[in-house]
Amino acid sequence: MRHGLELKKAVFHTICGRFDDWAQQFAFACRRGCASCCTRHVTITGVEAQIVLDHVVAGQMQQWLAARLETGLPEQRAGLTTNQLAQRCLEGGDPPAEHRDSGAPCPFLEHDRCMIYPARPFACRCFASTSSCRPGGSAVVEPAYLAAATAVSQIIEHLGQFDLWGNMLHVLYVIGCESKVIDPEPSENSLMDVRNRCTTAQPLPCFLLDESDRVRVVPLIESIFRATVAGKTVENILNGR
Ligand code: SF4
Ligand code: SF4
Repeated sequence: MRHGLELKKAVFHTICGRFDDWAQQFAFACRRGCASCCTRHVTITGVEAQIVLDHVVAGQMQQWLAARLETGLPEQRAGLTTNQLAQRCLEGGDPPAEHRDSGAPCPFLEHDRCMIYPARPFACRCFASTSSCRPGGSAVVEPAYLAAATAVSQIIEHLGQFDLWGNMLHVLYVIGCESKVIDPEPSENSLMDVRNRCTTAQPLPCFLLDESDRVRVVPLIESIFRATVAGKTVENILNGR
């Protein structure tokens, strides 16, 4: 991929728009102020971090962001990315043990409202449930929805390939400090330590799709690939053409 950041941001918004249109077929219980799904374990790409940082700068929220990131970053390092997991499956390997979410609330949540809502990453956009989640409880979604959300995450990771991938707070910390959106660097953590907790987004090797989900999910993938941004199809942009 040799496209510029602005084009990648536009592609991200187009992908999210196609996903939102496709997801209209589900009746979700999600509503404003319902936020027990908002924990500290959201993973993002560098492109998504840039969109959040643009929102922070536009709203003159730089000090607010620095203070939020000073409240404690998760110690855990990034595991396999979704595309690394797909590559492992392609090679017949076993998936790694699942990480148990601590359930600690996301620091961007204030009075049960997301302070970066218009710029939130895809992982936040796709979290949904057909019945209301209790705090610490599980969301309920159809397998096809989960499969679609995973496929779209893979496309977004491909879009952000070879840039940072990891916990939202870590990636925002690193890119925010390096781009001086957060300045001075919060004293609690060293930039190198936090960078080492991130990994790198990878190209898409294959979709993690069960045969039973294909009939509903493939039309979404095709609609994303056919969409145009700046006169090019998303498929061509993702292929670096
Ligand atoms: S996923 Fe669950 S907690 Fe999150 S908004 Fe939907 S119903 Fe509420
Ligand atoms: S960024 Fe916003 S939507 Fe995402 S987990 Fe945090 S509060 Fe929730």
